[in-house]
Amino acid sequence: VQAFLLRLPLDVNFGIGLHPRSDSFPLNSDVEFKDDITLVKNTSAHFEEYISLSFDDPLKTAMKGEAKKEEPGDRQEIIDAVQAFQWSMWKNEPRLPLETIVQRTLDTVEDIFLHLRRVPYDYGWVPEYIDERNRPTIVVLGSGWAAHALLKVADTYKLRIIVVSPSNHFVFTPMLASASVGTVEYRSMTEAVRAANPMIENYIEGVATSLDIQRQVLKVQLNSLLVGIREGDPPEIEIAYDKLIVAVGVKVADSMVPGALEYSLRLKTCDDARRLRTAVGEALEFASRPDVKDDPLLSSLEREQRQMERRKRLTFAIVGGGPTGVELAGELTDFIKDITKPRVGAYPQLRDDIRVVLIHGGEDLVPQFDVDLRKHALKSLRNGGVDVRLRTKVSEVGNSYIRLSSKDSDVPEETLYTGLNIWAAGTESVPFVTHLLESLPPEARGPQGKVRVDPWLRCPMPVSAQFGSILVMGDAASFRENEAFLPQTAQVAGQQGAFVARLLDRDYDLSLTPPRLKTRSPMMRTWLNIRGLEQAEGCTYPRFDNPLQILLSLILVSFYSFWWGQSSF
Ligand SMILES: Cc1cc2nc3c(=O)[nH]c(=O)nc-3n(C[C@H](O)[C@H](O)[C@H](O)COP(=O)(O)OP(=O)(O)OC[C@H]3O[C@@H](n4cnc5c(N)ncnc54)[C@H](O)[C@@H]3O)c2cc1C
Repeated sequence: VQAFLLRLPLDVNFGIGLHPRSDSFPLNSDVEFKDDITLVKNTSAHFEEYISLSFDDPLKTAMKGEAKKEEPGDRQEIIDAVQAFQWSMWKNEPRLPLETIVQRTLDTVEDIFLHLRRVPYDYGWVPEYIDERNRPTIVVLGSGWAAHALLKVADTYKLRIIVVSPSNHFVFTPMLASASVGTVEYRSMTEAVRAANPMIENYIEGVATSLDIQRQVLKVQLNSLLVGIREGDPPEIEIAYDKLIVAVGVKVADSMVPGALEYSLRLKTCDDARRLRTAVGEALEFASRPDVKDDPLLSSLEREQRQMERRKRLTFAIVGGGPTGVELAGELTDFIKDITKPRVGAYPQLRDDIRVVLIHGGEDLVPQFDVDLRKHALKSLRNGGVDVRLRTKVSEVGNSYIRLSSKDSDVPEETLYTGLNIWAAGTESVPFVTHLLESLPPEARGPQGKVRVDPWLRCPMPVSAQFGSILVMGDAASFRENEAFLPQTAQVAGQQGAFVARLLDRDYDLSLTPPRLKTRSPMMRTWLNIRGLEQAEGCTYPRFDNPLQILLSLILVSFYSFWWGQSSF
């Protein structure tokens, strides 16, 4: 029952309103007029590509012609035409057919048996009949959303799984902002790799640095507890693999602006949240020190100086108005409201000194989302007291300051004195992905330094004989569906992780397109043949359309949350 409640809602959840493509959705776009052409503009570069591919010629021509005249009436007409076009595209998007629901439910039945087979292991019984000669070695890089979903569904009776990651646990990233102000405890948002699937062969704490594609050997730099105490690098080891699953995510892009790396905190891992929490606490305590706090007996000049110091220390600047920055600004505001409540709050005396500043280069916060949501985010933060600076660029970050300029200027126009700088502006590929791309053919290069993958998450290989030996998923992968690239979300990563696990569990021949069953297990073969899955379907993200389906999935999601909360930690 638990396995059922655990898996099905997860799958169903991934199909509904939290649709992975919602942020590249056509209605997000704005119409922009430029000299002689009209651009349908969206913040995502991929989307512009999408529109230019999808518009039919007459409309394109009409748009170009009308825009030249620059008359308000024409503009409105074009905007209406574009919106009508976008709306029709949305209406014609593929929806979740009944067949998909049935298939996903049957996947869940498969998962139930998988989880049941793990039960004896929980009671200390180690199975002896595992056929080691036919168990391929699957090396999974990462322990984030995609890798975690894979581990949950991977059949360790058939697969010899080795996980390599610098952190030995999975983090439920949407809760990081809450953890950084203490609303959520770390243990409630993490799960150890070894607990996610106790039957994996090994977990190795380290970072993949390079690989030899021909020999199918990976190099791993082990983490060292002695870094900083003893000289020398920690040892590097080699691991041979049959399949390499790359789920290394992305990293915070903090190397472009001088000082950002050195003088900012980030919010990507549990350690980041811990550091942020400590820093917020320290700032509050600093501002409460006897030599800094307000004292009516002092001269007005001294009181003013103290207030300036407190205000500086209690200015929390967040750079980046994407989901992370907005979430964090919201959490910090709620937290500040709580702790400065008269009488019941811990720091009521600091009420007028604390402020949160959110700095964003673009026109709108959370540009990935629908226009209404963007407006709502801005309004809600401003109402909560956040000082939101739009169209503002950061040119330098220092120990206790940030230099700001307007979006189109490189000359610093303001120095903001800060107690805490938090960098949440953009992401970039991790070094391993850059290295991997150097070994792969040029067509493997996707946008933003990601690895381009096919519907089965395989990346192009230099030698065709090795095609199918490396799969890339989650944020590190560039996956194109219906002319749009999927966004960097936990939903996409989680679905891809479970999808890859099923490809491996069912023993598809991944060198073929589409992959075909090669399993020798008659039961598995019969089961999948009945379901029409002798050829593997690609990874798809259909939408729910029917309110009943949404209701059902919401009920199941609540069960899921309950059971996950009960069972995982
Ligand atoms: C603060 C925050 C809030 C978010 N909120 C949401 C949300 O509400 N909804 C949503 O859908 N998405 C959200 N996201 C995005 C979501 O977390 C990511 O899209 C998701 O984590 C991507 O999963 P992944 O498995 O690709 O990468 P990650 O989860 O980032 O995991 C990458 C893993 O790879 C490891 N790794 C890195 N380099 C190497 C290497 N060289 N070798 C081995 N291992 C390596 C890392 O340690 C990590 O364990 C949020 C992200 C953040 C940071």
